[in-house]
Amino acid sequence: MAALVIGHKNPDTDSVISAIAVADLMSKRGTACQAAAQGAPTPETVFVLEKFGLKAPEVVTSVAGKQVVLVDHSDLPQAPADLKDAELIAVVDHHKLGDVTTSSPLLMWVWPVGCTCTVIKNMYDFYGIEIPKNIAGGLLCAILSDTVIFKSPTTTDEDKKAVEGLAKIAGVTDYKALGMDMFKVKSAVDGVPARDLVFRDYKDFDMSGKKVGIGQLEVIDLAMLDGIKAELAAELAKVKGEGRHSAFLLLTDIMKEGSEMLICTDCPDIVEKAFGVKADKSVWLPKVMSRKKDVVPKFEAAFK
Ligand code: MG
Ligand code: MG
Ligand code: MG
Repeated sequence: MAALVIGHKNPDTDSVISAIAVADLMSKRGTACQAAAQGAPTPETVFVLEKFGLKAPEVVTSVAGKQVVLVDHSDLPQAPADLKDAELIAVVDHHKLGDVTTSSPLLMWVWPVGCTCTVIKNMYDFYGIEIPKNIAGGLLCAILSDTVIFKSPTTTDEDKKAVEGLAKIAGVTDYKALGMDMFKVKSAVDGVPARDLVFRDYKDFDMSGKKVGIGQLEVIDLAMLDGIKAELAAELAKVKGEGRHSAFLLLTDIMKEGSEMLICTDCPDIVEKAFGVKADKSVWLPKVMSRKKDVVPKFEAAFK
């Protein structure tokens, strides 16, 4: 029975492509693996899969009794609910170490870089395995997505080096143009239900015992969201009402390099505590691009 390689809930391009690539790499190294995802791909991911002729991983929500490789996360709240009934054999990630544990030794590749796919590029090189052209294209796009074409403060030199190498393998001459095409697809939100948008790139966190949800929409022009902002705020209030202390939605303008944050919380001064600005229902936060680096640590400190 093949081991399942699976990314986090509400899968993004990094989670999907990481699953495909790690399944390829580990299978070639002698551990039969199959890529999986905890949900359907987003329009951005569909664009990437179609562009490079890759197949969407099978949607899997139960992993009991299976061998499992986690990619792009190591937090239990982001993992399949029955992970405790599976055997975790490897983690490949670029986040803070989460709360998974194992009973046997495991393979771990966790680097402080902008994207899991940067780690995977280095794994292929380390093991001396050639990266298939289509997978190289996918890895390239995932890095451009997670690092917002190198604008995110999470970007490292390793990410840039990986992109240079992957672009050559994939035959991509202008990776910035490819990145913009991808973000144009990501920005198209017309006709998508507000609830789907809130959850498109969404994570729940445990912050000092409080359940805090943070979603993010990255667009090339915030004005594209003007028509649906009220609807998004109403939906966010519903999400908060579903057993959360707070729910936030980052509307990130990747060209202006900042985020408008929609706010829904039981603690009205939490945003001021975290960011030092007075805020009620929403606030513009210049330079705030990354949930992981610019937002989560500040809220975690404020909730302490
Ligand atoms: Mg991710
Ligand atoms: Mg990632
Ligand atoms: Mg992201």
